[in-house]
Amino acid sequence: MNNIPKCSNKRRFSSENEARKERLFVEKEYSKKFRIYLCTSCQGWHFSTINYD
Ligand SMILES: [Zn+2]
Repeated sequence: MNNIPKCSNKRRFSSENEARKERLFVEKEYSKKFRIYLCTSCQGWHFSTINYD
């Protein structure tokens, strides 16, 4: 069994709605913008940071 997705250490959400709700909190906490995307490895939703530097 070596098909562990590369994203196994990322936060995963089962729905886009759940991810959107959580994003409100993390954006405040980190003072950053986060993008939500559907992961093709685990079929879950993750955050990715947006860098404006
Ligand atoms: Zn994933």
